This record gives sequence, structure tokens and C-alpha cells, in this order.
Amino acid sequence: MATAKLQRWWISLRTRWQPYLGIDWKPDDLPSKLQPRRVYLIGNPTWRIAFLCPCGCGSVVELCVLTEADPHWKVAVDDKRRVTLQPSVWKTTDCRSHYFVRRGRIVWA
Ligand SMILES: [Zn+2]
Repeated sequence: MATAKLQRWWISLRTRWQPYLGIDWKPDDLPSKLQPRRVYLIGNPTWRIAFLCPCGCGSVVELCVLTEADPHWKVAVDDKRRVTLQPSVWKTTDCRSHYFVRRGRIVWA
């Protein structure tokens, strides 16, 4: 749908100035409402990350970063706390968003 494309374009534009930043999150339970453009790094060392889907659908994306897990993602946080994820994130249900997170920016696939 054209509206969805437009929305993505707008969101991708916005993330140029407001990147996804990693925050350390100690409790096991996430807050009931996640902050937009925040990546919650759960555990020490981090074993799980969570953030709001960048498409704006409101769903929470949770990814495992343990290398033993399958699938798992590599998460890197630079000195400005901008988050890079590898590989891309592909939601196979609902909004079906497919994107990369590079230095805090959402790059739509
Ligand atoms: Zn979404």
C-alpha cells in the first residue's frame, strides 16, 4: 500500500536525526511501554534485545543475541550508543517489515 511506503519513508527520514540507541536494561521484564527508537539490551552480558518495530505498527521485536541460539543476531553498540544489528530483521508475520539496523539507522530492505 502506498501509505505504508510513505510512512516508511517518513520514518526512515526521521531516524536520520533520531537514531536507534541502545540502553542497558537490567530487569528481566520489559517495561509495558517501550520508548521509541530505543533498543533494550537485556541481561549482562546481553542475551536478548527488544525494540519497537520501526514501521510504526507498535509491535515489539525481540531478538536473541546468544551465539548458541538459532537464529541469533549480532548486536554492536558504538561509542554514541548507536546500534548495529546483523543480519537484517525480517518479521514474517503481521507487518512483514524487513530492514537493517546500521549505526542506529533503519535501512529498509
Ligand atoms: Zn511493524
